[in-house]
Amino acid sequence: MQCINHNEAQSQALCTRCDRPLCAACLHDFQGKTYCSDCATFVRQRFETRAAQAQAHATTGAALDAAVVAAPIERRRAASRAASSLPWRPASAGRFYGMDPSS
Ligand SMILES: [Zn+2]
Ligand SMILES: [Zn+2]
Repeated sequence: MQCINHNEAQSQALCTRCDRPLCAACLHDFQGKTYCSDCATFVRQRFETRAAQAQAHATTGAALDAAVVAAPIERRRAASRAASSLPWRPASAGRFYGMDPSS
C-alpha cells in the first residue's frame, strides 16, 4: 500500500485509529501504538484531557475524604441539637391527641 501522504512511498504501518496506511516518515508513535499525524494529535489531546480530569477527580476525592472525616462530628452536633429541642413531647404526645386506648 502507498502512504496517504507520499504516493511514492510504501506504507510501513496502518494508523491505529483510522486505518490509513503510513510510511515511516508519517508514523507517529504514542503509547506504543502508531497513528497518522491527525490521529496522533487527537489521541494526545484526549490523553491530556483525561489526565487533567483524573487530576481533578483526585482533588475532588481528597475533598470527599475530608467531608467523610468531618461528617460524624457534624451528625453528632445535629443529634444533640434535635434532642435538646424536644424536652418532653415524645412520651406524652399520644394522650393529648386522643390516641390513648383506655379513653
Ligand atoms: Zn489516523
Ligand atoms: Zn508518508
